[in-house]
Amino acid sequence: MTNYVFVLDAAGKQLAPTKETKAWFFIRKEHATLVSKYPMVIQLNKEVSDDEICKDEIRCGIDDGGLHVGIALVQKCQTKNKVVFKGTIEQRNDVKHLMDVRRGCRHYHRYHKRYRQSRFNNRSSSKRGRIAPSILQKRQATVRVINQLNRWIHITNYWLEDVSIDIRALTDSYKSYSWQYQKSNRLDENIRKAVILRDECKCMECGKSNCRLEVHHIRPRRLNGSNTLSNLITLCEKCLQKTEGSEELFMDKYFSLLKSSDNKNLNYAQHVMIGKKWLREQLSNLGLLYLTNGGDTANKRIDWNIEKSHSNDAICITDLQPDTCDVKEWTIKPMRRQSKAKTDNVLGIKHRDLVEYTFKNGETHKGYVTALYPKQNAINFQSPTKHCKKVNAKKCRLLWKFNKIYWLDNVS
Ligand SMILES: [Zn+2]
Repeated sequence: MTNYVFVLDAAGKQLAPTKETKAWFFIRKEHATLVSKYPMVIQLNKEVSDDEICKDEIRCGIDDGGLHVGIALVQKCQTKNKVVFKGTIEQRNDVKHLMDVRRGCRHYHRYHKRYRQSRFNNRSSSKRGRIAPSILQKRQATVRVINQLNRWIHITNYWLEDVSIDIRALTDSYKSYSWQYQKSNRLDENIRKAVILRDECKCMECGKSNCRLEVHHIRPRRLNGSNTLSNLITLCEKCLQKTEGSEELFMDKYFSLLKSSDNKNLNYAQHVMIGKKWLREQLSNLGLLYLTNGGDTANKRIDWNIEKSHSNDAICITDLQPDTCDVKEWTIKPMRRQSKAKTDNVLGIKHRDLVEYTFKNGETHKGYVTALYPKQNAINFQSPTKHCKKVNAKKCRLLWKFNKIYWLDNVS
């Protein structure tokens, strides 16, 4: 396994990544200093002139899923393509809960105050185009990780999977993985496509297919019909005109039509993702953005004989076939900005620092600190496999101080 290390010059200019052994050699010879160990970044002691900088294209592939986001950097060299970095972002999943708790507290507070006239239309959630904070936060986290990487390496362009619908999934009995779906209920271009694809591109009433197709609300909007897949049906123009004004008469019929048609295509259709547009805009601000589709990725992964994982999918998305995918896999956890802990540190170990501890049975665990017990000189920490509770802080080895994003390599 060859691992690559990000390299900066004395002025902080991003250079081409180098191999880990070479980086340690530089550090031993005092040609460079260690900037970050997780992930490893070194800074050379001298400045490098512009024409010495390697101008290889570096593509950043992003496999955007609901819970896990695969991310990969592939360098296009003259003879081969190198995977410089790959990892999976584990998104926070507690935001909705935290917001609910906060809302509860706020409501309680308001009801126990003096009487206030109720206000209306002053909630951001009633505004159009707003992305729920639990979702927006995930996209922001992705952008944050990319910005951080951009400080260490010059990313030339970005590749994003434009997962509206996996066409390949519709043509054969291919099973997609469950993490790719995120239940979405917005009527945007994606959900229109999703409905039409679910209904196999034909009018559900008369079966006509070679015509303009419309997506129809079974329970109309004026009767509070929702924009969900279960309330939408594909109709041809003629059949749509028939229903106009008398949607109520057709409601039962269309609902039973949807129920009777097998919902095999529904899951694939739900490849719709809220917040995709936002992410797209952000990425195109950073650099050139290319879009690919989910079917392509799956095909390439099989053609190139690559094991499926979030980060490997991200490699496939970059459209560069690497010589090997066997590089260190990183787990990246964006954390909330401020810890709410009341105690600052235990023996110099702070919240979310990376520590290592060996249990009496010889098991060594490595993870980030989740709780501090100053009186007992103990800490809790979370390793990828175990939540280690109240371990002696004196016997812990501090590996790395926390800095905004939590990186962990999966090797050890
Ligand atoms: Zn029709």
